[in-house]
Amino acid sequence: MDKNINKAPEISDFTNPNIRFFDKPWQMNLELTNACPLKCPQCYIHTEEPFEMSLKTALSRLQDGALAGVKQVNLSGGETLCYPHLETIIHECKELNMNCAIAISGINATKEKLSALINAGVDHIFISLNGSTKEINEHSRDGFEHAIKALETLTALDFKNRHINFVMNRFNAKNLPGMALLCERYAIPHLAILCLKPDSKNDLRFFPDKDDMVIAADFINKYKGSVKITPEPCFSQLKALLFSYGKERENTGPVKGCTAGRTTVCVSADGRLSPCRHLDIKEDFEHISDYWKNSEFLNELRHIEDHRTPPCHGCYFEEQCLPCQAIGLKLRNCLNTGMTQCPLAVRKL
Ligand code: SF4
Ligand code: SF4
Repeated sequence: MDKNINKAPEISDFTNPNIRFFDKPWQMNLELTNACPLKCPQCYIHTEEPFEMSLKTALSRLQDGALAGVKQVNLSGGETLCYPHLETIIHECKELNMNCAIAISGINATKEKLSALINAGVDHIFISLNGSTKEINEHSRDGFEHAIKALETLTALDFKNRHINFVMNRFNAKNLPGMALLCERYAIPHLAILCLKPDSKNDLRFFPDKDDMVIAADFINKYKGSVKITPEPCFSQLKALLFSYGKERENTGPVKGCTAGRTTVCVSADGRLSPCRHLDIKEDFEHISDYWKNSEFLNELRHIEDHRTPPCHGCYFEEQCLPCQAIGLKLRNCLNTGMTQCPLAVRKL
């Protein structure tokens, strides 16, 4: 493949306030399987009918994605390690000049398995952990010991790009300093703070409250340790708070909040396309480039800002915030032009 076809956006494009979405998808999520031996309370995956992406579909969508301009591929489950063709897929990503990240719980993450992923060329490994103790973690996640073991193994293997995915909720928000200490103890360089999404029953009762977010932002702002602590774009409220401290520079442009259909496309196990695995509007397009240009739903997502309603309209954070669209769609059956559940809403003076 001619590598020039797949030119990535410039770093400055990600925070360019004049750009709402990229003209090519930059990131692609592959929803490989819903198999998982764990039973996490926060899980959003529907497990009634088992599904697994065929290798043929995965390879074909990787090639299609590379032609469409994708530079970053994220592999997820279920438990991603349950998927039998991971090394082949990672290898294909590298052949196509795309970065590849994988998110895992830690279960079955033996030294041999992690070494195989690393040898295949995986660029980033994210371990999911929602608390620095088993008690805090198990409010929302299963498998604490597996996650800790996987962290130890990655550090022993000296794999550079090892991360923790920490989904913040009402039970663990004040445990952020404990998570930073845990990262220091296990020599994990990066703690990613993820936004809580509706679970498989569309329940979102334990979204962090305003105090949780303010205390977390304050901690991140003052933290001087060795760990890089960053909210994912989906956690737009926390990013907006950090921006108000002058700390977070990325709260403008296409990654200021929800990136669905703006930088990111998702491929479901049957090969159909959606803007995000949490936005369950799947479409049958043969080519990702065609979907990116012609999907009416993507077009609607990219114009949310033009139709803001309260509390987002008139909110102090309005310009720096684009909340999760899946929350509106799953809880109220409409997009979040104004996130009625937002605990951070502050009226402009
Ligand atoms: S009300 Fe809307 S704009 Fe304001 S912080 Fe909440 S999600 Fe963001
Ligand atoms: S819909 Fe929600 S989960 Fe999906 S990209 Fe947007 S913010 Fe993230």
